[in-house]
Amino acid sequence: MDSGIRGQPEERVSEVDQVSHLAVDIGGSLIKLVYSSSNETSGVEKGETASDDILEVSNGSDNYPIHYGRLHFAKFETSKINDCLEFISSKQLCRSGSWHHVTSDNHRIAIKATGGGAYKFADLFKEKLGVSLDKVDEMDCLVAGANFLLKAVCQEAFTYMDGREEYVQIDHNDLYPYLLVNIGSGVSMIKVDGDGKFERVSGTSVGGGTFWGLGRLLTKCKSFDELLELSYSGNNRVIDMLVGDIYGGTDYTKIGLSSTTIASSFGKAISENKELQDYRPEDVSRSLLRMISNNIGQIAYLNALRFGLKRIFFGGFFIRGHPYTMDTISVAVQFWSKGEAEAMFLRHEGFLGALGAFVSHESHSLGTS
Ligand code: ADP
Repeated sequence: MDSGIRGQPEERVSEVDQVSHLAVDIGGSLIKLVYSSSNETSGVEKGETASDDILEVSNGSDNYPIHYGRLHFAKFETSKINDCLEFISSKQLCRSGSWHHVTSDNHRIAIKATGGGAYKFADLFKEKLGVSLDKVDEMDCLVAGANFLLKAVCQEAFTYMDGREEYVQIDHNDLYPYLLVNIGSGVSMIKVDGDGKFERVSGTSVGGGTFWGLGRLLTKCKSFDELLELSYSGNNRVIDMLVGDIYGGTDYTKIGLSSTTIASSFGKAISENKELQDYRPEDVSRSLLRMISNNIGQIAYLNALRFGLKRIFFGGFFIRGHPYTMDTISVAVQFWSKGEAEAMFLRHEGFLGALGAFVSHESHSLGTS
C-alpha cells in the first residue's frame, strides 16, 4: 500500500520519532498491529512474517491534535499468535523505556488491545511478554479507526468502478452520517453519526470467514492468498446459474435483468451430472467470492436505505484491495440503489480496529478522551 502524506513541518516529525507504542486488534482470523516507532527502528524490513505498511500522518486538527508521524502496520494469522508475540518482542515494541502507557501501579506495561482475542489471549501476553492488555471496545475502535482515516489521511477513501480507483475528497463537515461495513470473519454494519456516536444496525455471518472456510473445503487451498489468487483466473458462469441459462440465452428485460445476471449462485451445479472434482478450483473460488461480495453489497445497500444513508464505506481484511471483490460490491450497491448510493473503500481497510485502539491510546495520553 502507498502512504498518504499530509503536509507537516519538519520539526514536528522529529518530535514524533521519539514516540513508540503499539496497539493490537486480535480478531477471529487475523491479528492486526499498528505501531509508531522511534528513528532507529522506524525502517521496517521486508520479508518478515508480517506484511508491513508505513503511513505518515501529521494532522493538527482539533480532533487529532497529536502528530502521529510514522505508523507501521503488520498482520499475523490468529492461529500463529506466537509469531506475533515474537515479532513484538524482536522489535522491542513493548520495552518499558520507550513506552508511554505505563499504568499507575508502577512500571506495569499495557498495550491497547481490541477484538475478542484481547480477552482470549490476555494471559498469554502476560506470560510471554509481561504486558497487560488494556481492552478497548471493538465497535468503538472500528468507528474511531474509520473516522481517523477519513479525517487525518489524504487519499484514503476511493470508489472502484470499471477497473478504476478514484479517490474521494472527504469534506470533514459533511462526513456524517455514513454506513460503515466491516467485512472481517463476520460482517458488522454500523451507522456512524459522529465521533463516538454510532449504532451497529446490522450484520451477517456470511463474511470473510465464510469465503475462506468454505473455499478451503471446496478447493483444498492451503492459504487465503492462494484461494484469492485462484479467483483471478476463474469463471463463475461455469457454476452459477444465470438468467440466460433459464431464459434460453435472452435477457429478462421486463424486470431489468440481463442474461448474465446471476439467478442462483452455484445453481448450475445441481443441473449437471458433475462432482466437485469436475469443477476447476479457480471457478469455485470466483463464484464464492462473487456470491459473498454480492450478498454483502446488497445487505449494505438495504441498511443504507433503511436509514437514508448515501455513503457506504467498506473495510475489513476480506477485501484485500481485490479488484473483483470491490467491483462486485460496487456493482451490487449501484444496481440495487439505482445509482443513488455509492460504495467506497479504504486503503487501510483491515486496520480500522487496530487504528481505533491506537488512537484511543493517544487521546488518553493527552487527556482528550
Ligand atoms: P477478524 O478481526 O474477524 O479477524 P479481519 O478484518 O482481520 O477480521 O478479516 C478476516 C478475514 O480476512 C478472513 O476471514 C479472510 O476472509 C480475510 N483474509 C485476508 N487475508 C487473510 C490471510 N492472510 N489469512 C486469513 N484470512 C485472511
